[in-house]
Amino acid sequence: MNTVDQYNFKDKKALIRVDFNVPLDKDFNITDDKRMRAALPTINKVLSDGGAVILMSHLGRPKGGPEQKYSLKHILGDFSRMLDLTVKFANDCVGLDAESMAKNLFPGEVLLLENLRFHPEEEKGDLQFAEQLAKLGDVYVNDAFGTAHRAHASTTIVAQFFPKAKYVGYLMAEELKNAEKVNHGAAKPFTAIMGGAKVSDKILLIESLLDKVDNLIIGGGMAYTFAKAQGGKIGNSLLEEDRMVLCLELLVKAKAKGVNLVLPIDTVIADKFDNDASKNQVDTGEIPDGWMGLDIGPKTIELFTQVVKNSKTILWNGPMGVFEMENFEKGTKAIAEAVVEATKNGAFSLIGGGDSAAAIAKFGLEDQVSYVSTGGGALLEYMEGKELPGVKAIQE
Ligand code: AMP
Repeated sequence: MNTVDQYNFKDKKALIRVDFNVPLDKDFNITDDKRMRAALPTINKVLSDGGAVILMSHLGRPKGGPEQKYSLKHILGDFSRMLDLTVKFANDCVGLDAESMAKNLFPGEVLLLENLRFHPEEEKGDLQFAEQLAKLGDVYVNDAFGTAHRAHASTTIVAQFFPKAKYVGYLMAEELKNAEKVNHGAAKPFTAIMGGAKVSDKILLIESLLDKVDNLIIGGGMAYTFAKAQGGKIGNSLLEEDRMVLCLELLVKAKAKGVNLVLPIDTVIADKFDNDASKNQVDTGEIPDGWMGLDIGPKTIELFTQVVKNSKTILWNGPMGVFEMENFEKGTKAIAEAVVEATKNGAFSLIGGGDSAAAIAKFGLEDQVSYVSTGGGALLEYMEGKELPGVKAIQE
């Protein structure tokens, strides 16, 4: 893999695709700047070599044109403070202004381009749009692991205009290294913990994990579709009716492959989707009408944490309940703590995809696991065994 370590950026302009798709509150304050901080090592490498940096990113999901609320200008102040220099800003990521700003950039300077997705050509992977972006730099660097599974103009197509000068950044390299530790040659017992809202988002991942893991723990909203498929009563809990047959098939497959598939045995129920709802605890499959399961119960916590603590490799994707609500965070927190304990005892733990990264950050345990990925969909697709187009484009 070509990484930025193999290149001296002196007097060069590095066109770097970063993932600055950070969450903003209603006043446009950044609520989690992890993705920005994660891009600093690559940016600093170029600057300390004596090069200049041109950064391109997307933010949110604009509907095909400029939208003030998705402007990357909102992050400019914080980003400048983070780098301790005045970052320049181009109001459009392509065109004459961006070209002249890039041309006039001195070594040691950083230019941030406006949101790539203000141009629909970005997501279409348009060749001419990619060519316009390519004009801005001498070298292309992809450090946006979070979008590496997309063949967009800035993540993949642009690379062909730099046949001899394209590299992955430090973040991308680190993400791939950690994902690889789990994907191939994971120390056993290997446990995957799946949670979150939907089975349908994670079917491919679950299927591919069945060939690798010793234990597959399934919690969160997706567990209720399994419970219903097995004949249980789930009240108003999350249900994907059209996936019930698939759930049964997964249970059969797990058995055939000798995988210990562990489902919740009890659940914390609520009479409405609200932190202040009335609560109760029942066994799985015995949820009364009018109630919904919002967290795993105490017996399940015990069951799941025992499995986690005895593991040597752990992949965690998706919360065990509605952890955003204090009254329903207990299961997710207990699992996070079990992952931390296993890590202390020598296990390798990779957290990523879905909301588990947000959960582990909420509990302040980020630094006590082996690695928290910045990628959601990208990590999932990599784990499913798919090739990431953003990475392939650098290798070709
Ligand atoms: P995902 O992005 O698929 O990982 O889903 C994460 C979301 O699933 C979080 O916002 C959780 O609040 C939600 N979630 C987890 N468990 C449940 C549940 N039992 N009922 C409803 N939502 C849930």
